[in-house]
Amino acid sequence: MKIHEYQGKELFRKYKVPVPRGILIHDKSEAAAAAREIGTTPVVVKAQIHAGGRGKGGGVKLAKSPEEAEQHAGKIIGMTLVTHQTGPEGRLVKKVLIEEGMDIVRELYLSLILDRETSQVMIMASEAGGMEIEEVAEATPEKIIIERIDPVIGVKPYLARKIAFALNLEGEVFKQAIPFIINLYQCFVKEDLSMLEINPLVVTGDNRLLALDAKIDIDDNALGRHPDLQEMRDLDEEDPNEIEASKYRLNYIQLDGNIGCMVNGAGLAMATMDIVKHSGGEPANFLDVGGGANEEMIENAFRILLSDNKVKAIFINIFGGILRCDILAAGVVAAARKLSVKVPVVIRMEGTNMEEGHRILNESDINFIVGNGMKDAAKKVVQAIK
Ligand code: ADP
Ligand code: MG
Repeated sequence: MKIHEYQGKELFRKYKVPVPRGILIHDKSEAAAAAREIGTTPVVVKAQIHAGGRGKGGGVKLAKSPEEAEQHAGKIIGMTLVTHQTGPEGRLVKKVLIEEGMDIVRELYLSLILDRETSQVMIMASEAGGMEIEEVAEATPEKIIIERIDPVIGVKPYLARKIAFALNLEGEVFKQAIPFIINLYQCFVKEDLSMLEINPLVVTGDNRLLALDAKIDIDDNALGRHPDLQEMRDLDEEDPNEIEASKYRLNYIQLDGNIGCMVNGAGLAMATMDIVKHSGGEPANFLDVGGGANEEMIENAFRILLSDNKVKAIFINIFGGILRCDILAAGVVAAARKLSVKVPVVIRMEGTNMEEGHRILNESDINFIVGNGMKDAAKKVVQAIK
């Protein structure tokens, strides 16, 4: 689960990681008062959306007076902000952070992510802050410092010093960097984050080290033990179909193609994506109804697939184990009747009670296309669209 910059900074404050002072507002009428309360000039008006690259897209503006802050807030709230991370459709801005404008001397980069190869938390740091780390990695990989953390030892001061040295920090700022890095690691581990990125991490004219940006991703599997983090969820920032699917414990991810796929088991779902692509089609989604799906879940899954108007055909690929083929067939028939399906539906099922499942499909008044094995079914669904 992603959270907003202002929420990420609240989390940083809790772990004594320094951030600029800021006030969140939802309406431009609150901007001038917020700027006065912060009391510095300039202040910065920052769009709060779950995507980076806001600065370049026009979502971060400097204001030299409270009146100017109000003008900027008026323009940013309600704008559809397009950045390289939002896609061309952009994202509607509903709130902005009014923040203390910092006197920036250096822009650095610092992030923590889970390194799947070593199963350790990895700290990445770079003197090339303010630019995308992917670009730095491409053009000047030698500018990226990487340290992996032994989970038993954690981040000890020597390791934090090593990173601070590598960033060429000096004097007071060097000293501040040690607790900064140690506390950030605590935040990452205790809050069960899967990604934490500060870009830029800044050194100010008055020799302070601050997180100027905060990009955070929380491990969804750990949300159960963080009710306070659950409250930070912003449904406005999520795909409506994914929200709907999560209500029924369906594992759904929206993709760009036009073949809606309904599959049981993540492995089979991956294989289905592959075979659809291999046959010349493009999946519209990844949908795993799970091993123990019941009729009701099948119906909800079907409804979610159909609500995506890019979907021009549906491919149901089920291996009947715990979810028996007859249950699946009954669920699909019931759902298709209720929802008036206008697109071709190709079904491939194999496993427990397969014959009974096929009988239910054949006897129904709905015209399903039955695939003979995965390859045949994938071919048929691609043809059905043409
Ligand atoms: P994004 O990464 O989405 O573009 P950032 O929070 O990194 O958003 O802001 C973009 C740029 O705006 C920063 O690199 C920095 O130069 C400037 N900026 C952001 N916040 C402040 C601030 N509080 N004071 C001064 N400059 C800021
Ligand atoms: Mg940034």
